[in-house]
Amino acid sequence: MYRLFLIIGLLVLLFVLLKSIYRSSKQVGRPAPPPLDGDQMVQDPVCGVFVPRKTAIVQQVGGISNCFCSQECAAKFEEQRTS
Ligand SMILES: [Zn+2]
Repeated sequence: MYRLFLIIGLLVLLFVLLKSIYRSSKQVGRPAPPPLDGDQMVQDPVCGVFVPRKTAIVQQVGGISNCFCSQECAAKFEEQRTS
């Protein structure tokens, strides 16, 4: 008798667990919300690499902001622009 309750209890636990897994996997399948400004991917015009805007190095040139993956690329761009 004791065992029966234990098995039922385990089954219920398993059922709840599976249900939560199913629910979370369904959430993963949903389309992601539009990215916020900080999560936007921007392209480095020097090396062509995409970087998140919040981690990119932004340089304002004549009202246009250029985003770079590193200070190195920003310097390279500046070199090309001024030469
Ligand atoms: Zn770069």
